[in-house]
Amino acid sequence: MFETTIAGSLPKPEWLAEPEKLWAAWRLEGEALERGKRDASLVWIKEQESAGIDIVTNGEQFREHFVHGFLKHIDGIDWDMITTMGIRDNRYDVDVPTVTRAVKRNASVHGDEVRFCRAHTKNQLKFTLPGPMTICDTIANEHYDSRPEMAMAFAELLNQEARELAALGVDLIQFDEPAFNVFMDEVKDWGIEALHRASAGLSCKTAVHICYGYGIEQNLKWKETLGNEWRQYEEIFPALNASNIDQISLECANSHVPMSVIGLLKDKQVMVGAIDVTSNQVESPEQVAAIIKEACQYVSAEQIMPCTNCGLAPMPKSVASGKLWSLAAGAALARNKL
Ligand code: ZN
Repeated sequence: MFETTIAGSLPKPEWLAEPEKLWAAWRLEGEALERGKRDASLVWIKEQESAGIDIVTNGEQFREHFVHGFLKHIDGIDWDMITTMGIRDNRYDVDVPTVTRAVKRNASVHGDEVRFCRAHTKNQLKFTLPGPMTICDTIANEHYDSRPEMAMAFAELLNQEARELAALGVDLIQFDEPAFNVFMDEVKDWGIEALHRASAGLSCKTAVHICYGYGIEQNLKWKETLGNEWRQYEEIFPALNASNIDQISLECANSHVPMSVIGLLKDKQVMVGAIDVTSNQVESPEQVAAIIKEACQYVSAEQIMPCTNCGLAPMPKSVASGKLWSLAAGAALARNKL
């Protein structure tokens, strides 16, 4: 009960990339960079194990960004044709590459990193991939007739990749869909369908992570416009509860999301965000346990997996470490109390 995991990303060490920054540039190159990514991921796998996190990730140490890390290896994208695009409904402007031809996956994207991580942990291993809708919201389109059409094309490539990673021993594939909280009608129209395409026939468990984003300035400003109660989840959870996805990850800690919305996920495992990613204040285990306890009012204890609200990538390393330890300790506390 209360198996712990994290949303995905963790800070990169300062010798590998510029700290406390999203899209941080690498500080190494060539072979040294590849060795550095492996070393950094090993450190985080071992720290998650030491802290007592049950389902570990590589902390996304191998990629510069959670969306473009996958896209870098996909054919059909012109990286010199840069478009400045307002992403997540114009919440912030990002320079994105452009799809100019039908997209194609010619080779494995993450196979080597999964082989490395699988060899270095006996814990359950989770791997995160960007969801099709979020990909389409983070790239310009000069080829497909519509976003749904492009999303299905990317979903097919994600499925090829996910099947390979599952065969390499990944226990859980998580699709990150922060765009689900922004385009709620599209989620119901085609977002879940694209997710089904991406996760079809997988031999491992599947998850979708839906959040209010990293603790960066643009997200904090957006959250100020959302009012006192954030009910975006309420619009999409019934459809997600009816979906084929096994686990749903949402944010609860220090957010304005009413905890009662998780009651809409009666048939799912629920990754309850019990760690805030917008504050450098490390939660106490008691605070984590209190969120778990509150969640138990709406779904059964067996369904709850304590998690972080979102990725910890832009945080100072010591803060992220502290939060990992508190998450595991808080889950242990909740387990003992119940
Ligand atoms: Zn997130």
